[in-house]
Amino acid sequence: MNERALSMRLERVAAHVPAGARLADIGSDHCYLPVALMRRGVITAAVAGEVALTPFHAAERTVRENGLSQCISVRLANGLAAIEPGDGITAISLCGMGGERIRDILDSGKSRLSGHERLILQPNGGEQPLRQWLMDNGYSILCEDLLRENRFYYEIIVAERIRPVMYSSEELYFGPLQLQQRSPAFLTKWQRILRLKQRTLADFAQARQAVPEAKVLEVAQHARWISEMLA
Ligand code: SAM
Repeated sequence: MNERALSMRLERVAAHVPAGARLADIGSDHCYLPVALMRRGVITAAVAGEVALTPFHAAERTVRENGLSQCISVRLANGLAAIEPGDGITAISLCGMGGERIRDILDSGKSRLSGHERLILQPNGGEQPLRQWLMDNGYSILCEDLLRENRFYYEIIVAERIRPVMYSSEELYFGPLQLQQRSPAFLTKWQRILRLKQRTLADFAQARQAVPEAKVLEVAQHARWISEMLA
């Protein structure tokens, strides 16, 4: 993967960035997403935020080598602290991190959000707590995407602060739109997770040390939700 040939995962993220956006890509690593979008003429400006020095330097190099230093600012910063008031950011991407981490970045950076940005989130696991945060903070989920690449499933969640919505526990667990659409990839993913949950419950039953009851109940409830959804 590079700025000319994105991975399928980042290609699917890119598809949700509106034309003409001013993008903040937080946790940008090599800055492939903003540079690819700028090369294609999709976005008009970008901020690439990185908390770690090595990816920060990699991002600076990609931007420099593509002659895009005028329109992409690479900043060494923690989370949304990379965004400055004058940036006029209209879309924020947070990709390739755990859902809890993305949630924490959004939560601790709330003061940097105008509320008008589109959020394009690609969590690696932890989707449920991330969707919970979105709901608790007045975001509607506009689009959900699921893809499989290199044996892993990736979810993409696109949200905007249009109006408050209430999602049920099952919608927060599966994704409200994915639950409606039930794509083949979605069903295959959850059949696999159901087998894992059932194996975990069997392991709990055989464990030498008692597993906390709350943990058993939680796994059993998730297995029941999945069985009911697949039925
Ligand atoms: N977004 C790219 C992608 O999806 O391919 C890179 C993903 S990489 C696995 C995660 C990146 O997020 C790392 O470069 C890491 O340094 C950065 N990161 C993690 N926590 C961060 C934070 N709080 N603020 C900014 N960057 C962060």
